[in-house]
Formats: sequence, structure tokens, C-alpha cells
Amino acid sequence: MSRPLDPTCPVCGRPQVPAHAPFCSRTCRDRDLIAWLEGRYALPCPPDEEGEGEDRR
Ligand SMILES: [Zn+2]
Repeated sequence: MSRPLDPTCPVCGRPQVPAHAPFCSRTCRDRDLIAWLEGRYALPCPPDEEGEGEDRR
């Protein structure tokens, strides 16, 4: 029986707060969300390629 590791905020590494789990604060929560959104919008998928693929079919 070992205690689980101290949960820390994945954004800044400080101890996380249950109210904002798994983050330490609303700020870090927002920062993580923004980073996630930016990752989604930065998908390397040129629309040209999709059209070409359909054409070759
Ligand atoms: Zn944090």
C-alpha cells in the first residue's frame, strides 16, 4: 500500500487543487484548454490533398 504520488498541475507543476483538478487554478485550466485548441487548429492537413485523393479514386 503506497500513497499515490502527489498530484501536480500538468501546466505549471504545482500541487493541484481539487476544485480545479487536475490543475492548480483556473488560470492553468484555461491555459491548458487554449493549448489544446491551438493544437487542434494547427492540424497539418491541406485541403488540396483531400480533393486530389477523391479525384484519383
Ligand atoms: Zn498550475
